[in-house]
Amino acid sequence: MRIGMPHMGNLYIPFKALFQRLNMDFVMPPVSNRRTLSLGVKHSPEGLCIPFKLTLGNLIEAAELGADTLLMPAGDGICRLGYYAKIQERILHDLGYNSKIVQVGVSERKLFGILEMIKRLSNNAPWIKIISAFRFGIAKLNALDKIERVVHQIRAVERIKGTANKLYSKAIKAIDQADDYDTLKRVETDYVGQLKQVAKDDHARPLVVGITGEFYVLLEPFSSLDVESELGKLGVEVRRTTFVSEWTKFSLFLNPLGMNEKARIHRAALPYLKRDIGGDGWETVGEKVLHAKEYDGIVHLAPFTCMPEIVAQNIMPSTKENIPVLTILCDEQLGKSGLLTRLEAFVDLLARKRKTTSKSH
Ligand code: SF4
Repeated sequence: MRIGMPHMGNLYIPFKALFQRLNMDFVMPPVSNRRTLSLGVKHSPEGLCIPFKLTLGNLIEAAELGADTLLMPAGDGICRLGYYAKIQERILHDLGYNSKIVQVGVSERKLFGILEMIKRLSNNAPWIKIISAFRFGIAKLNALDKIERVVHQIRAVERIKGTANKLYSKAIKAIDQADDYDTLKRVETDYVGQLKQVAKDDHARPLVVGITGEFYVLLEPFSSLDVESELGKLGVEVRRTTFVSEWTKFSLFLNPLGMNEKARIHRAALPYLKRDIGGDGWETVGEKVLHAKEYDGIVHLAPFTCMPEIVAQNIMPSTKENIPVLTILCDEQLGKSGLLTRLEAFVDLLARKRKTTSKSH
């Protein structure tokens, strides 16, 4: 059995660590690129969202590398994600690949569902081995997200633009290569230290922009043309609450114990939206309400044709919390120069607004 899966940011690193520790044959397709996107677009029904198209492109590329078992997130929520694995499997079969898609339930049995799936795929490896491999994967995930948070801050104030990104790429490689806890900890401390040492503009008071929207486009930089990095180049500090490590902590461990991290955000959205509308639409509205005082502006990433985000986009202008929101529709038509022009105009507007209101952070 040769296992493959689609990309979503750096998520392949913890999965690789997990499967390597269980001596399983794991192959990752190339990171998402133009070819991935054109393969996905070519073989997808036209009206589907960018997560479907890009993950399909990844799955085709994994199948080309010989993966016969493909993991694909699935859920029982209101959005179409629950059907994607089945449709993608059919498309792969029509293309002549016999790969089987295994659905990874991200909303049902959470921790136990995922552990049971690993048990099946690993040909019944002992639980102790599975749990130890899983823990190591989580440790890598936490290290990656910790460094990314620091990168968000440094990008905005670094003197030489691009320094934090270079360190970040090196850190990702080093985390990928670390094969024990001591090395992993050392790598994490070392890179956090190096990032904090980057020469900064001491007088900078960076604009703070919240990044909100649909889970996949928030976490797969290729799908948003790396909007966070572009904002960093414009001297903006981005704040994002969605991280896979957070999702894992709550979905896998704390939600089953009755803790709901989303309760606060849902409460904030209630005056404008009373129920879950699938995907992350409810949270998008809640984030605007919750963070209106804290951020200078919000960049809302919404996959084109994604119903939950379309609903959220249309509700946001009617909230009494007054904060500028720039919605960016992510699909194969999103072009870099158009995106940059809109970001520059948005950042200008925020800077002027801050000047006139002398908002302090
Ligand atoms: S939430 Fe929207 S973008 Fe995400 S999978 Fe569902 S329909 Fe697609």
